[in-house]
Amino acid sequence: MNEIQLYDATLRDGMQGEGMSLSAEEKLRIAHRLDELGIDLIEAGFPASNPKEQELFGLLANERFAHAQITAFGMTHRRGVQATADPALAQLAECVAPVCTLVGKTWTLHLEKIVKVDRDENLVMIDSSIAFLRAAGKRVVYDAEHFFDGYRAEPEYALRCIRAAAEAGAETVTLCDTNGSSLPAQIAQATAAAIAALGTDVRVGIHCHNDAECGVANTLAAVEVGARQVQGTINGCGERTGNANLVSIIANLQLKMGFQCLAPEQLARLTETAHFVDELLNVAADPNQPYVGRNAFAHKGGMHVAGVSADASTFEHIDPALVGNQRELLVSELAGRASVSEKAAALGIALDEPTTRRVLERIKELEHRGYQFEAADGSLELLLRRETGGYEPLFTLESWRVIVEQLADGEARTEATIKIWIGGERRVHTAEGNGPVNALDAALRAAIGEVHPHLADIELINFKVRILDENKGTGAVTRVLLDSSDGSEVWGSIGVSENVVAASWEALVDSLERGMLAGPPA
Ligand SMILES: [Zn+2]
Repeated sequence: MNEIQLYDATLRDGMQGEGMSLSAEEKLRIAHRLDELGIDLIEAGFPASNPKEQELFGLLANERFAHAQITAFGMTHRRGVQATADPALAQLAECVAPVCTLVGKTWTLHLEKIVKVDRDENLVMIDSSIAFLRAAGKRVVYDAEHFFDGYRAEPEYALRCIRAAAEAGAETVTLCDTNGSSLPAQIAQATAAAIAALGTDVRVGIHCHNDAECGVANTLAAVEVGARQVQGTINGCGERTGNANLVSIIANLQLKMGFQCLAPEQLARLTETAHFVDELLNVAADPNQPYVGRNAFAHKGGMHVAGVSADASTFEHIDPALVGNQRELLVSELAGRASVSEKAAALGIALDEPTTRRVLERIKELEHRGYQFEAADGSLELLLRRETGGYEPLFTLESWRVIVEQLADGEARTEATIKIWIGGERRVHTAEGNGPVNALDAALRAAIGEVHPHLADIELINFKVRILDENKGTGAVTRVLLDSSDGSEVWGSIGVSENVVAASWEALVDSLERGMLAGPPA
């Protein structure tokens, strides 16, 4: 057994995180992306804990997956009830999933303080629950909850629990660091002891949480000593500080440890899959996320840029294309002409010598005024296109106006009016919003959305305001950074002005203009 089984828990354990919510259809879309990525087991949830889960299992009954298998999640039967009489187990036995993941107790502290079940009774609960599902024709993954805490408290009893699960017919016994309390050496030692106790007939899995920021490291430590199922969530979403991040685990297993988890073309979908899940969860993708973040292969400074241009391995730990990411060359005062030429080449823009010099001058001048293009790749692209000619702006501005009205009862109203020209036609639109930027955005979209319907796909996902040079007080310059997305790509834009609304307007226009360059997402 030297193959790694990839087990995704995003749709169940990952949903315990704050503010996480997905409809049944969204879960189904994610399940298909995970299937395409090459995930072996997808934990869908409890088969009938609420109407939303019921709806999901109803939908799953009619779905076909190329590779992945669905697992249903549940727990060992309640105390004082026979497995055959436990309604939740019966639902697992009857559901469409071929695999059931059962969670049960391992830590004596929990038996004493939480569930008040004696040690032998707990062993019986593990045994009879698994036997019941096996008799119903299910394959069983047994999740030994708090295994590592339990092993540190009473190693003999923790091992008896997992032995009971293996003897009852579980095909995999997964060791869970449920509190995320353990460090890699502890995980390695306890996992090795579990494998020695279970023998070679049963697969051992690992399920880590990230409370000590060791979720990924702990998972790899368990694999080093023989664990062959890895459980995690996409981007590490999950309760508290999250679960082990399956995205990094997969990349590390395959690119650093030599396991063949995915076909190369599947591995190349890692970045896109990670961003897709963020998108559906409505969270901004973490630019600093290892392997798949926008900054994961970003280079700043002349020497680094010159280095990667000569030989990428000088400053990169892997080739970004392997995980579907790409090199970002950050342009700043430090960077020289090499990075501007590289950036232009990456965008397919040909820059001759005089233009390069002009672009560098322009960037320097703008940086002096407070612009910064490192997080504003969209604005930089527009700058390059404007400087090289052949760029058609979406519209010409005549004027915009924002009225903010504060009523005596505390209610604030904002209204924006814009007057613009598109193709020789004057358009005047007014819109209300919950603030000046929102109202301007609404008015601008109303005005140009009729001509460019793709605009509706572009969403503002992040809005950051920073006051530069605070000691000038109200005369200080405001820098606005916007992140936008059309569902497949994310880009940044920037605006700088003494007036926060004017800076926002500038960033907003860049954001929409850059978004329209790409055309509708495929
Ligand atoms: Zn968990």
